[in-house]
Amino acid sequence: MVETLSIAVIGAPGVGKTSIIRQFIYNDFSEVYTPTRTRYVYRPSVILNGNMYELKILDVPPISSFPSSSSQEWLDLRCRGVRNADAYILVYDICCVESFEYVKMIRQQIVENSSEVPILVVGNKRDLQRQRFMPRRAVSVLVKKTWKCGYVECSAKFNWHVVLLFKELLGIAVARGMRQNHTSIRLQGALQRNRCTIM
Ligand code: GDP
Ligand code: MG
Repeated sequence: MVETLSIAVIGAPGVGKTSIIRQFIYNDFSEVYTPTRTRYVYRPSVILNGNMYELKILDVPPISSFPSSSSQEWLDLRCRGVRNADAYILVYDICCVESFEYVKMIRQQIVENSSEVPILVVGNKRDLQRQRFMPRRAVSVLVKKTWKCGYVECSAKFNWHVVLLFKELLGIAVARGMRQNHTSIRLQGALQRNRCTIM
């Protein structure tokens, strides 16, 4: 049986959400910034330790807040499917403190809606790390210990830790018992890039 997991990717404009998704699925990166104006859905399949998962990745365009009700979500096309996602990737730019503040706000709103849902916070643009606004260790401790979310830093530009972040999120989702028989699943050596195919 193939499991399906819907993942909403949310973050301030320009932090690299689309770049992360496209690097993961197509091994593709563009320096040119093309703002995402409408919601886009990608449906790759991945294999994690012999189990196949169908991912439904929502590239969410800029939203001022997490949709507070189903009717708000229904009225605003950009948010469709966001409230009922199985897991969230919250992306910020490690050089932009405002983008971290945005992630902080969205995380709070997500947990008010559903306290148990897996959330992975991703610090992107690691290649620009000399301009970061806060040491990695400090952010990691805050996110993991206080927010109880996963934390990964990546560079969509250099395809560094991009597969790892999806593997990490899937690992959290599986560990929380959302998928079948989680005790038998181990994470080592999972999600090899050449096993990721487009549906
Ligand atoms: P989105 O608005 O969050 O979807 O951001 P995009 O994926 O469209 O990326 C915004 C801009 O940041 C683009 O010009 C990308 O080329 C650039 N960008 C994305 N990821 C990285 C990264 O890891 N490093 C660097 N240096 N630039 C990046
Ligand atoms: Mg985008």
